[in-house]
Amino acid sequence: MVSETPITAPPVEGNHVSYKPRYIDIGINLADPIFRGRYYGKERHPDDLSAVVSRAQEVGCSKLIVTGSDFTSSRHALELAKEYPGTVYTTAGIHPCSSAIFSSAHAHEGTDGHTMPCDPDPTQPVPEDHEPDQEKTEKVISDLGKLIDDARSASPNALVAFGEFGLDYDRLHYCSKKVQLHSFAAQLDLVLSLTPQLPLFLHSRAAHEDFVSLLKAKFGAKLERLEKGGVVHSFTGTVEEMQELMDLGLYIGTNGCSFKTAENCEVVKGIHLDRLMLETDGPWCEVRPTHEGWKYLVEKNGTSTESPCEMASGATTPAASGTSTPDAATKPAQKTKKPQKKETGVPERWPAVKKEKWREGAMIKGRNEPCMIERVGKVVAGIKGVEVEEVCEAAWRNTTKIFGLDD
Ligand SMILES: [Zn+2]
Repeated sequence: MVSETPITAPPVEGNHVSYKPRYIDIGINLADPIFRGRYYGKERHPDDLSAVVSRAQEVGCSKLIVTGSDFTSSRHALELAKEYPGTVYTTAGIHPCSSAIFSSAHAHEGTDGHTMPCDPDPTQPVPEDHEPDQEKTEKVISDLGKLIDDARSASPNALVAFGEFGLDYDRLHYCSKKVQLHSFAAQLDLVLSLTPQLPLFLHSRAAHEDFVSLLKAKFGAKLERLEKGGVVHSFTGTVEEMQELMDLGLYIGTNGCSFKTAENCEVVKGIHLDRLMLETDGPWCEVRPTHEGWKYLVEKNGTSTESPCEMASGATTPAASGTSTPDAATKPAQKTKKPQKKETGVPERWPAVKKEKWREGAMIKGRNEPCMIERVGKVVAGIKGVEVEEVCEAAWRNTTKIFGLDD
């Protein structure tokens, strides 16, 4: 066995030890084909997944929990875990927006592998209220159970959570409320049948009341039957909702979507450090110049401390409306985008180019990726008025504990 690189003592600067941040991205949709250069059926640039992983490692993001949100992405995520052992971990579950497969209206599988944007798309029509289909449900649940069993025996350390699943009433155009509730309940029953249970990777948007009552109905008023805990990721709810989730013992995942408004930032301020987790939710949910939290990224002297290059974030991405996808060109039903002011003074490590102008070593504009988690850590630290180190170490501890990752 080749031993790992020994951990060298951190460099000492003056009187204090300089801290090298470490991150675990708990929610990254790395199974999305756009990390392979494929955008909605079109090959736009070479597969640059390994560069995406390298950039993450370069900022100290040494572990990635890749989200499985349907059968396709859950399987791809497991393949990635085999490709990057000790770096990539995975979840498996059916996202509320992919839950139409529980109804009579939809085929069981066959998605193109793309994940849904993290924001609602008001241009999409809300479908009719389809009924849950019992036969399909049995098939989906049995297939999901088998996928989990197979994953647990084939690569015991890779699958670290059940999900992503939950409720999303902001995006009923992908799946009706009735079917979402049915999907969430059926998957919670599957979790209860697992020995041992898996921690939960949960999604809750504009659905807090139903979300909490369903969790309580299945796991008890204090979630006492929830053996491994869980995280409500990409949190955008109110202070009261966040408090209730923390009281139930759940963790809160934050990404760019959690910093959009002053109210959002107030909520983040209230998350206890021992309940905090960090994520990018890439390719979505980047921190944008229009977000309230952006100001915490701007260096006080207005100069960049890293290599001066093009904006690596959405700063030059004409995508402020929150309804954008990474490929507006091939997705015609988009709102007109308002241009954004180009900020200076936010450190950028890598250049970002349009996907059509891909070149080695560059990020893709509008495609959020795990190296950007350092911005999430910085914004949370800024909002809470603490050092980045405190945020990173708390999130690291919480994440390794809940998901059973090696330190
Ligand atoms: Zn989500």
